[in-house]
Amino acid sequence: MALALGVNMVQWAWIASLEDARREDTARCRGQLESAERTRDLAVERLGEMVLQAEADKQARAEQAAAYEMAGAYQYVGECTITAYCPCEECCGRWADGLTATGLPAGPGVVAVDPEVIPLGSTVIIDGQRYLAADTGVTGKHVDVCLPDHEDTVAHGVRMAEVWVSAE
Ligand SMILES: [Zn+2]
Repeated sequence: MALALGVNMVQWAWIASLEDARREDTARCRGQLESAERTRDLAVERLGEMVLQAEADKQARAEQAAAYEMAGAYQYVGECTITAYCPCEECCGRWADGLTATGLPAGPGVVAVDPEVIPLGSTVIIDGQRYLAADTGVTGKHVDVCLPDHEDTVAHGVRMAEVWVSAE
């Protein structure tokens, strides 16, 4: 009888310790769940901010577009691929004489365009910066910005931007 009681006590203590472990596990799980929920809430918040930012950017672009159109002189080309080149042989091959298709020296402020899309001699506006369309060598909605150094052209890479032109 005493032995049986002793066994029961041991069993009871064991069961109690299991209960404690389960409670601890539950608490730990709850903690992890709460932290996962916090992470999720932060992510949702950040996504919301990004969406708002994207909408604000879109709005800003639309306003800029309206302002340009109101000025009358500007025409929206659309979203164009923007790349960069320099007058070096690697960029221009046999055309690497330092001169553009219009005879102007290839240098900062000059861009190469597809004359079918952007007439040569027009002012090209990319991100509020003004360039002169004086060179060719690209096709379609693609603007190649002339930079002085080859390393800068590599650093520039490829991006997209909204492009405007003006005949002035
Ligand atoms: Zn180059």
